Amino acid sequence: MKKQISAHSNILELIGNTPLVRLNKITDSLTGNFYAKVEAFNPGHSSKDRIAAYIIEEAERKGILKPGSTIIETTSGNTGFSLAMVSIVKGYKCILAVSSKSSPDKIDMLRSMGAKVYVCPAHVSADDPRSYYEVAKRLHSETENSIYINQYFNALNIEAHYKTTGPEIWNQTNGAITHLVACSGTGGTISGIARYLKEQNPEVRVLGVDAYGSVLKKYHETGEFDHNEVYPYRIEGLGKNLIPAATDFNSIDRYIKVTDGESAHMARKIAHTEGMFVGYTSGAAMQALHQLNMEGEFTKDSNVVVIFPDHGSRYMSKVYSNDWMENQGFFDIQNAETPEKVEY
Ligand code: PMP
Repeated sequence: MKKQISAHSNILELIGNTPLVRLNKITDSLTGNFYAKVEAFNPGHSSKDRIAAYIIEEAERKGILKPGSTIIETTSGNTGFSLAMVSIVKGYKCILAVSSKSSPDKIDMLRSMGAKVYVCPAHVSADDPRSYYEVAKRLHSETENSIYINQYFNALNIEAHYKTTGPEIWNQTNGAITHLVACSGTGGTISGIARYLKEQNPEVRVLGVDAYGSVLKKYHETGEFDHNEVYPYRIEGLGKNLIPAATDFNSIDRYIKVTDGESAHMARKIAHTEGMFVGYTSGAAMQALHQLNMEGEFTKDSNVVVIFPDHGSRYMSKVYSNDWMENQGFFDIQNAETPEKVEY
């Protein structure tokens, strides 16, 4: 008799259904119950696997993608890695326009996954022909049989999280979630989860994490684009210098801003206290939790879910490098909200 083999038919079947893990030591001093949705468990090690698979499969369903098509995108790294992974398995070519702010590890990884990578200057305006948005648009118009994913302006980005991450969190918490804390870049993650959760229970508080140097918080509060809010910062994947259509600002109750330095220390501290090796924006989300706690957002009955978007291995030459931390001046920070400095 033929033996049954228990195997997935390909790596893409492992996307989603990531674990929810209770946070213990790093939330010691906080009021409430805290759980991390650990997106590094996706096969491409970030939440972006979800949108890559979802958007490509929608395009296949609509007949837009054909064998040999080219997938084009602008990306800080994670979306590119996920698109490259999905492209390989499904037989597409992948071209990525990447910001020069992305870590060299990330760029090397994209090339290792077979993508063609164009590195574009980070500190030019979005409409500059050298920006990664404009480079991607040009490549799309020049490449036959190509699709431009355009994650910042693609409603399917929100839909991917509405259909997957949102229901997962609702089910994993048995509907007991009271607060969601999530970083906002394209806004797809926070908006998709928020929409789903608020349909189930409109009382769930949705708290977005933004960076100093990004325009999102101010825009949410005033409805206006304030150019003074925009200046260079270090955290990759969090905040924006434009207003992404993939952010549903109405589904977010408030934004909170975090600094580069405190977020970096928090990422290191998560690794040291919880044994979870997570990326820079997971540190940012954890820093936001501490600030929100100081502002009295939570009670002892709060069940707070925080999204940890990616894995620490992508930041070896940044947050997890003492030289890099030193060069940024991050060891000199004196701030009560960073509970303790982690020294190696
Ligand atoms: N963290 C990291 C590391 C990211 O790459 C991104 C995506 N830019 C985010 C957080 C934010 O997710 P979203 O784009 O869905 O808002």
